[in-house]
Amino acid sequence: MEGRAHKIRLHFAPMDSPARAFVLGTPAFNTYDGCNKCEGEGVFIDFRMTFPDMNAPLRAMDHFLEYQSLTPNPLHQRPPDLLRIPGIIDLIRTFVIDVMHAVDLGAMKKLMELLTGTYTFSLSPTMKKLISERLEQLAKYSPREFQRKPRPLSLLARFKAKEMNAIVKYLGPVIFKDALSSNQYNHFINLHVAYRILNDYKCVNNDDSINYADTLLRNFVEDFKLIYDEKFLTYTFHILIHLAEEVEHFRLPLIKLFAYRFENRLGYLCRLVRSGHLPIMQLARRIYDINFFNVFDEPKNRNKKIGFSQLKIDDTEGYVYRKYVNLDYTFNDTMANRFCEIDGKFLFAIYFFKHSETGEPLVYGEIIHGIQPLYSIPCSSFYVGAMKARLNIDETQTPKESRSIKDITGKYYCMPLDDSNEYAFIKLLH
Ligand SMILES: [Zn+2]
Repeated sequence: MEGRAHKIRLHFAPMDSPARAFVLGTPAFNTYDGCNKCEGEGVFIDFRMTFPDMNAPLRAMDHFLEYQSLTPNPLHQRPPDLLRIPGIIDLIRTFVIDVMHAVDLGAMKKLMELLTGTYTFSLSPTMKKLISERLEQLAKYSPREFQRKPRPLSLLARFKAKEMNAIVKYLGPVIFKDALSSNQYNHFINLHVAYRILNDYKCVNNDDSINYADTLLRNFVEDFKLIYDEKFLTYTFHILIHLAEEVEHFRLPLIKLFAYRFENRLGYLCRLVRSGHLPIMQLARRIYDINFFNVFDEPKNRNKKIGFSQLKIDDTEGYVYRKYVNLDYTFNDTMANRFCEIDGKFLFAIYFFKHSETGEPLVYGEIIHGIQPLYSIPCSSFYVGAMKARLNIDETQTPKESRSIKDITGKYYCMPLDDSNEYAFIKLLH
């Protein structure tokens, strides 16, 4: 570039399955050789391409051209430009599974459609109504970190990826409890636990955790045939058996291999295009102009105001605040934002924030005792930071505990359970 050689390292390329097949010139996901991670052959059942083989050998770069030649459409059989770059790029590994399309908009959305459909295994109208009402009820418990609040099932077709993501990671164990059959519920929990493990920074260097998540995902896919129907075991569900390999290879949580940030960028790029004529050239010119004039019309990142705010009481003993913002989370005295983790082990209900006499910022509240696992199959929910407890918060009483805000190590999503006063708590993942 301009007479100089630049070294570029392609770390990974997340894209959905049709885009990946197009860029690499490999078979599409709904053909017999549709899985680009393994050599498992598709089986055509009832107008659907299914992938029942879970033990096929993984694809290797040595056989990439051979794999490419399986593409049914001769127009797509062209060596990808990336192969012309000197040095070896592992196109099998580099083109990662995009979890946003594979799980949130893929497996989870399809599972919800099957459950709310009209199949023999689908839910009764009463149970669908129950799940829908629970989702509506949870809207006011949605923490500040979530851009979208839960919506009723009548809007399922319009659910965005982040809404489905929240169902897998947080809402599912609560909204599906006693609404799904026990087989269906335990089956879903396999996906929920595995997804939480593979999205947790703490687990990416722990081979035991990754292997456990892999086993759970394989159980989920294996049992899918029995609980639902083998004709629905399409690429959407098959690809789940390859998720743990991605985390093990990159040593990154799945959230880092997402296309979310690129999807956001896509909106920005679309706004730069003024007409449908030569869009790539238009983009190149606009980006050049922006860099040249140093003008950014991108929405600026909200400057987070770190510290205490929203004065609650200004008494003789000093200022008492409702709200505290740190780099990761926002806390306040509402049910959606008041539950935090202290010292990596205690569930703590926040009453207010105040400085000590020496000026140290403190959080006042109480430790919640009597916590129990939210579920115990396939493992205790404590393993992935999920629990339940009864609450008796009385803010008229003097708080029992005060801790330094430095002791706050996490935040919990609080959700009411059917039993009065009993709530589920699931720790937020970054
Ligand atoms: Zn495969």
